[in-house]
Amino acid sequence: MGAVLLSVGLTACIQSEDADLIVHNATIHSMDEGMNTAQAMAVKDGKIIALGAEREILNRYRAQSKYDARKMHVYPGFIDAHAHFIGYARNLAELDLKGVGSEEEMLERLAAFAASSEREWIVGRGWDQNLWERGQYPHRSRIDSILPDRPVLLTRIDGHAAVINTAAMKKAALNPDRPIAGGKMLRDADGAFSGMLIDRAVDRISRFIPPLDPGELVPMLKQAQAECFALGLTSVSDLGIGLGEALLLDSLQQQGELDIRIYASLRPEESSLDFMHRGPLITERLSLRSVKMYADGALGSRGALLKQPYSDDPENYGLLLTALEEIHAWAEACMDFGFQLNTHCIGDSAAALVLALYADQLREMNDLRWRIEHAQVLSPGDRHYFGDYGIIPSVQPVHAVSDAPWAEERLGPDRIAHAYAYASLKQELGILALGTDFPVEAISPLDNLHAAVFRLPANREDAAVFHSDEALSMDDALRGMTIWAALAQHEEEVKGSLEAGKFADFAIYNRNISETGPAEWHKLKCTATFVDGMQVYPLGN
Ligand SMILES: [Zn+2]
Repeated sequence: MGAVLLSVGLTACIQSEDADLIVHNATIHSMDEGMNTAQAMAVKDGKIIALGAEREILNRYRAQSKYDARKMHVYPGFIDAHAHFIGYARNLAELDLKGVGSEEEMLERLAAFAASSEREWIVGRGWDQNLWERGQYPHRSRIDSILPDRPVLLTRIDGHAAVINTAAMKKAALNPDRPIAGGKMLRDADGAFSGMLIDRAVDRISRFIPPLDPGELVPMLKQAQAECFALGLTSVSDLGIGLGEALLLDSLQQQGELDIRIYASLRPEESSLDFMHRGPLITERLSLRSVKMYADGALGSRGALLKQPYSDDPENYGLLLTALEEIHAWAEACMDFGFQLNTHCIGDSAAALVLALYADQLREMNDLRWRIEHAQVLSPGDRHYFGDYGIIPSVQPVHAVSDAPWAEERLGPDRIAHAYAYASLKQELGILALGTDFPVEAISPLDNLHAAVFRLPANREDAAVFHSDEALSMDDALRGMTIWAALAQHEEEVKGSLEAGKFADFAIYNRNISETGPAEWHKLKCTATFVDGMQVYPLGN
């Protein structure tokens, strides 16, 4: 009698519930509050429905599709909290100057690219004079000698400086003697305009370059998405795009042409303001609930606004790119219409000004989650604002290790001690959102984790460790690219950890990331990526 009852009981519970997918034979790092792990998880309608022990999940759920993870490690799909997705896609159609070792090499690549391009403007990006022997900016006369008639704009790696040729000057009717607010036009030793533009002066030229039409852009967006998926990213951000671009992303997602989740911040323009009156646009794949502003420029091109002059340029304090009254007006609009404000602040002066302005608007501790992007150089006395007003620091550890070779020259020994101070910043509010700022840096959540934890560029063991006292623990670094990044986007209810009810967005790695040191880091590989429980990488087998 007892035996009969027992067998009836077992049959009733074996595979009695439906799922679409079971992932099993895995170590699932849920990144939930208790940092729990599981061996298996069930997915239905794109959402996680249960996590548990291997037999518990396999016995309880009946699924058409089972994924044997072969003892590998499953993490929530990584979230890049600060990136430029469309910018990356657009760059795929442009001249890539990353890593060029000299001005000569840059000109050689330019000549080859121009010969193969039919577009009128030749646009390139990625050079960095800090990698060149004398560290000097390029000059327009040398571009003129190769391309006297076609307009050329070559943007520095940080996107905050560019060199143009004389044809581009003419095309844009640029008069280097007429000042541009928030920008600079540099001169050579003879006092002539060198072709180098800083910050707002770059914008003055780039608006003359015809954008790629959607027919040209869509394949590039798909390629960018494929590159993200291959590295385990399932959510990216696009900080500072036009309304038209945001709506293009939405329509591609609605048509099933683009699967990646995107948190986009609007540029502060008239069309954005019109749109904001209707409140945030939030779909399953797009979140349009924030505005991105620039307070200052970047450190590499000495555009970051500092309280004291640059240590290697004693007359120069950097640039305020947007008048405080304008930031104030947008802060009010964000407050009124329920939008987040995300402001780029790299220098200590920019951060101090914007944090005080935020405090004025926010008034008290709150859950609006306004953000400071970069927060690279910050006086210790200004850090309290983050904790006092619930302001989220959104930082890029890869920048710290990329800037390490020259940042101290710009800042001197005292300020460098408080720069890229991620462990200290994390103390303030208890969270830190991490991004890569691609295309300024490579798309790679793993490189970013490596930089955050080891304070070294990945796979460059010859480099010196950069201020290791500001390193994050691996758990915190992982949180920064998962649950804390989701919090910085107001999306922690649906993503950022693997828990019942959340999107089944996850990435599978061949090793335990937390147990991999710098020497073995190159062995870490993403082997599969899923969005909504659908495999998006690798495809087609
Ligand atoms: Zn950026």
